[in-house]
Amino acid sequence: MTDPTTALIHHPYQPPAGFAAPQPGVFKASTVFFPSVSAMREFDWKDKTAYTYGLHGTPTTYTLEERLCALEGGQQCLLVPSGLAAIASVSLALLHAGDEVLIPDNAYGPSKALAEGELKHWGISHRYFDPMCPADLAAKITPQTKLVWLEAAGSVTLEFPDLCEQVRICKASGVYCALDNTWGAGLAFAPFDLLPGVQPALSVDISIHALTKYPSGGGDVLMGSIITQDEALHMKLKLCHMRLGLGVGANDAEMVLRSLPSMALRYRAHDASTRELALWCAQRPEFAQVLHPALPNSPGHAHWKALCGNDMGGAAGLFSVIFKPEFSQSQVDGFCNALQLFKIGYSWGGPISLVVPYELASMRQHWPSHLQQGTLVRFSIGLEAASDLQADLAKALSTLA
Ligand SMILES: *Cc1c(COP(=O)(O)O)cnc(C)c1O
Repeated sequence: MTDPTTALIHHPYQPPAGFAAPQPGVFKASTVFFPSVSAMREFDWKDKTAYTYGLHGTPTTYTLEERLCALEGGQQCLLVPSGLAAIASVSLALLHAGDEVLIPDNAYGPSKALAEGELKHWGISHRYFDPMCPADLAAKITPQTKLVWLEAAGSVTLEFPDLCEQVRICKASGVYCALDNTWGAGLAFAPFDLLPGVQPALSVDISIHALTKYPSGGGDVLMGSIITQDEALHMKLKLCHMRLGLGVGANDAEMVLRSLPSMALRYRAHDASTRELALWCAQRPEFAQVLHPALPNSPGHAHWKALCGNDMGGAAGLFSVIFKPEFSQSQVDGFCNALQLFKIGYSWGGPISLVVPYELASMRQHWPSHLQQGTLVRFSIGLEAASDLQADLAKALSTLA
């Protein structure tokens, strides 16, 4: 008779197999058992037909990886603890001292900070290119260039680049192109098949996604993915990912798995309210410019329309306004503070609408000619009724008078 202490740990009961329910199970582990020493020696951590260690994958993370591949149309997926970790691990895996990385000037801010900090310290140089001028990108590619980051639409200012032309330029030069696909989310366009029906497919090499945004949908999970189509490139990224010890917790993976089934519906709902509110703002006298790729006057609208302006397309849940220069920074701060339903906070993709004022001058090489002068405020539209959000905006704007 085994001591009860031991029986609490080694119990003979095995639940019946075949449990089937809407959500896949949540498997948690650091240690994974091998049936024998020879199995331990034989199993390859890279081989997803077996399990070797929690960090290298569990049924929960494998399941999430496969579903994200389906979302973005890729073949392989790595999970990392945040969207920024996805950006960082791509750069760490592909760049060496002496290499250069090109980044669009309207890229996600912390991606630029990584280039100006760690990458620079390690002898990796960077240059920023004009996202709205493919010729500028082409001119900046040199034999040192090993990686080009792309983003559509751009962070904060939401210009929509000629993504297809940018990808063609990278392909022609033989440099890796990595897309920050958080805005498109796999729903607005297909990153590995930008021009459906055109053969050979026009495709980015790598798509990273801040799952923190729409795939999570709750404002309560941080996670990122790195999706590829080429096994050799995936292996390069995977080896670096393993050596850096990056992994995600099973409970977080479960949260994203639970949100994925509603993601396309949520994306469409965010999109519809955002367009309504952006249009409303475009009629208001307080704003010099409203930035939203589906607005005909927004920079890069034609590129957005060509890539995302079909039934399957979309425009996510973000827009920005530039206040007329007569409104001071403190008046604009007062407007943000006066909002009730919009909360002041970073990130997007969750149910609650958010507002952030940005100091654009400090974020760019120079003020882009396609943007009006003035204080910029970005809105992330949640899942509240658009009419209530509009009333909230109107009330806060009335405090400016
Ligand atoms: C939020 C965001 C990220 C980073 O995601 P985190 O999970 O917050 O690190 C990267 N790129 C874009 C475009 C984002 O909006």
